[in-house]
Amino acid sequence: NAILRALVSDPVDNLMIEELNSNHFEVSYEPTIDAETLKDKVKIFDVLVVRSRTKVTHEVLEKAERLKIIARAGIGTDNIDVSSAKEKGIHIVTAAGSSTQSVSELSIGLALSLTRKIPFLDRKSKENIWKKDTGTELYEKTAGIIGFGRIGYATAKVLKAMGLKVIAYDIYHNQKTMEEIGGSYVSLKDLLEKSDIIFLQATLTDGGAKLISKNELGMMKRGSYIVNTSRSEFIDGPSLLQALKDGKVAGYAADVTWNEPPNNEWENEIISLENVIITPHIGAQTVEAQKRVAKYTVENLIKKREE
Ligand code: NAD
Repeated sequence: NAILRALVSDPVDNLMIEELNSNHFEVSYEPTIDAETLKDKVKIFDVLVVRSRTKVTHEVLEKAERLKIIARAGIGTDNIDVSSAKEKGIHIVTAAGSSTQSVSELSIGLALSLTRKIPFLDRKSKENIWKKDTGTELYEKTAGIIGFGRIGYATAKVLKAMGLKVIAYDIYHNQKTMEEIGGSYVSLKDLLEKSDIIFLQATLTDGGAKLISKNELGMMKRGSYIVNTSRSEFIDGPSLLQALKDGKVAGYAADVTWNEPPNNEWENEIISLENVIITPHIGAQTVEAQKRVAKYTVENLIKKREE
């Protein structure tokens, strides 16, 4: 096998670098490389390994003269200009399934944090304020899952065990897994109207942006919650801000922001609200998921190399 030069341009588990080295890739590890430097350096590489920080734009791909494979060490290829890559005959591999368990566990954590105000009350305790706020139970409530794929299904299994009724909206239906959790597919409108807590777990594709805008927020039950571990683009930010301020949405917890890190006014205002919980895109940031990501990514890279 010819040795392929691989640029790893985002922070990854050491195991990834070890696996690449021991499988005859010549690795350059530049986890903090900026967009301009990436454009300068990319031309000598055959393989580019990214997480979500690196934006593989048309401009980057124009300079990538030798690039054969882009490996997304994670799930979701929305930080890659997929159509430009395809035009240039560059293959894309991902680590599908590697973080299913980690992201669904985080979703449950965010849900309970919202309904019992755990981070808020912890902050008060640290300020020496003994604030006995009343929360709500999840038991016997309706959970609406938008995007019933790997993560949606794993989350639904736990929700079912916790005594919630599960409904889901997806553009693709998998009756077998749905029957297994005793839930049902509904329209987006039904999901919005019936859910006490909504979990956004879909993959962002061309049609997905602003799936939840002012109109859709208006259809939601007053006082319901949203947990978002997929992508912020699904939600219109300024409309969400309004819905959170007027109590239509009781709370919003997300592992994703519109800019990562956040950098505009309405986004920062959303984050500052007391009924909002934000984690910095750490869904896959567990020991186990990062090891799986390394393993799956390198396995898929080797398969593509050998094709
Ligand atoms: P998956 O492919 O198994 O499932 C995605 C589901 O979304 C599919 O069933 C698909 O049909 C559905 N879908 C796509 N577009 C839709 C739309 N417009 N409306 C409704 N449903 C739609 O993927 P997965 O492994 O479950 O991951 C889902 C998403 O979670 C990823 O695409 C990624 O954005 C996000 N994710 C986040 C983290 C994190 O760190 N927070 C980690 C991994 C994945």
